[in-house]
Amino acid sequence: MKAGIHPNYKMVKVTCACGNTFETGSVKNEIRVETCSECHPFYTGRQKFAEAGGRVDRFNKKYGIKTEQPQQ
Ligand SMILES: [Zn+2]
Repeated sequence: MKAGIHPNYKMVKVTCACGNTFETGSVKNEIRVETCSECHPFYTGRQKFAEAGGRVDRFNKKYGIKTEQPQQ
């Protein structure tokens, strides 16, 4: 990339909610994302869904809510 052609486009650090960081080209100074290739369900299978299910389960137990959970 030649200097001057894309004066605002640079490599910036992307911080994911999972703690992973990586670099990408952007005009922004910093990027925060909720999912990345390290934690997105598409790449990790059902890990994130299982985690979310656990949170819902704890919430339901706390408030005495009974739900039908799909069994894998
Ligand atoms: Zn991530």
